[in-house]
Amino acid sequence: MSSNQYNGYPGQGEINTLLEFINRLGNASRGISGDIDKHLAKIKSLTDTNTLSIDALKPHFDAVMQALQREQARIERTMREVHLGSISALRHLLDYEKLAPGSKEQTADVLQRLQAPLHSYSELLPLMLNVIERFQAELSNSVRPFGEKPNAADYQALQGELTNLLATIDFRSTASNTLQSLRQRLLQMLDGEQLLNACMDALRLIIQGINEERQSAQQFLLSLSDALSSVNKALARAVQTHDDNSEEQAQLSLQLQARVQNLASSVNNASSLQELKHQVQGHVNDISELLVNKLAMEQSERQSLRNQLSTMQARLEDVESEAQMYKRKLSEQKFKSLQDSLTRLPNRAAFEERLELEYQRWQSYAAPLAIAIADIDHFKVINDTYGHTAGDKTLQVIANMLKKSLRDTDFVCRYGGEEFVIVFPQTTTEVAFELLEKARHRIKSIPFKFKNTSISITISAGVSSFVAQDTPARVFERADRALYLAKNEGRDRVSQQ
Ligand code: GH3
Ligand code: MG
Ligand code: MG
Repeated sequence: MSSNQYNGYPGQGEINTLLEFINRLGNASRGISGDIDKHLAKIKSLTDTNTLSIDALKPHFDAVMQALQREQARIERTMREVHLGSISALRHLLDYEKLAPGSKEQTADVLQRLQAPLHSYSELLPLMLNVIERFQAELSNSVRPFGEKPNAADYQALQGELTNLLATIDFRSTASNTLQSLRQRLLQMLDGEQLLNACMDALRLIIQGINEERQSAQQFLLSLSDALSSVNKALARAVQTHDDNSEEQAQLSLQLQARVQNLASSVNNASSLQELKHQVQGHVNDISELLVNKLAMEQSERQSLRNQLSTMQARLEDVESEAQMYKRKLSEQKFKSLQDSLTRLPNRAAFEERLELEYQRWQSYAAPLAIAIADIDHFKVINDTYGHTAGDKTLQVIANMLKKSLRDTDFVCRYGGEEFVIVFPQTTTEVAFELLEKARHRIKSIPFKFKNTSISITISAGVSSFVAQDTPARVFERADRALYLAKNEGRDRVSQQ
């Protein structure tokens, strides 16, 4: 039989070609699919044996074909998803408000090319590179490069916020000195590093404050429970002494009674005056001894009770004075506080400090600086109609909304009564006016409901800003005049001067 003749077993030349093909296929497809790898390995091991038959190889070839088809379908699906996903991502990028100049056109161009019909997915890959480039460009436009320093305005905004925040905390005496000096520092112009240090100090202070409060509350509770337990012990001792003594007292009384009876019978039985005299003398001595004992016992009981009571009294006084001290500390804190307790906004004292700081900055940097006074309209009517508590609640809600409607860098305080003062750093009268208009609308739309009546409450405001040679007092006066105008022109409006 010639070796060229097909007999179901391939010759050496055919085997070599086949082996080379399988090797290449294996190299090209390795890692795409575990299935394919597995079958190719099997085919390779079958070709290594001497009894190689095409029939034995066939099922593995079929399996490789099927796995390849499945793989192709999967790749197409993924490509389609990537394609659609990129289109949608680019559309979002186009909607992004802060696109750098010129960037909109470039993005629209890539989007258009991506949306044109594709002949094969290999065309998609260069387009994907364009998509990635677009996003990279936008990212580097919108993110401040690493290491670049924030500008002075950023620092000032931060410093303002920190000052606002510190105005809302109050501490026990040890921390309050540090707080005071930190606040003093913040009232000066700080550079980035100084500000960072101030932030760290604030953090330290807050943590120290929290610890001290906790420790002092714990100490107070401990000494309170100490005092209570010693009062309790003293009471128990007093009761015990009383019980012990009453038993002895009862015995003494019995003895006394017996003596008196003995005395009586001695009197009856005595046969001579001399004997009687002698017996009575003996009995009287006994009785008086018993009486002396009884008196002494009563006295010692009284004394012991007195002692117990005075111990109790002393302990109670301790507790009382400790409570007093605690109360005094709390009221001192209130006194020092820069926060209004009803609305939790900074108070007038905090405002005066803050205005001084902003005034200094305005003198150094000449960035615009605006001040506004806002006053609730016809607030007296709310109090008179629905009561003071409803009035208080209304004040809280309006204060909240006012703060919420403005920016974090704006300083909002309760100046007094139903009046709020706002400092707008680095803000012109026009911008402050717009912000106040927004706040006015939002406050007006709060749905207040008292005694089943829905009402809306309005505010009026006056705003002004610093001009050359101005003093804080002059600007404040102008804002007040503007408020007066707003009230006169019918309320529910913002006026500027
Ligand atoms: P206008 O529109 O002119 O400002 O009228 P008004 O009624 O708001 O002004 P007025 O100054 O006559 O009255 C302010 C009222 O605000 C008087 C006072 O009873 C009330 N008020 C001030 N502080 C508080 C407070 O803390 N709680 C409550 N409930 N009322 C307050
Ligand atoms: Mg008022
Ligand atoms: Mg008012």
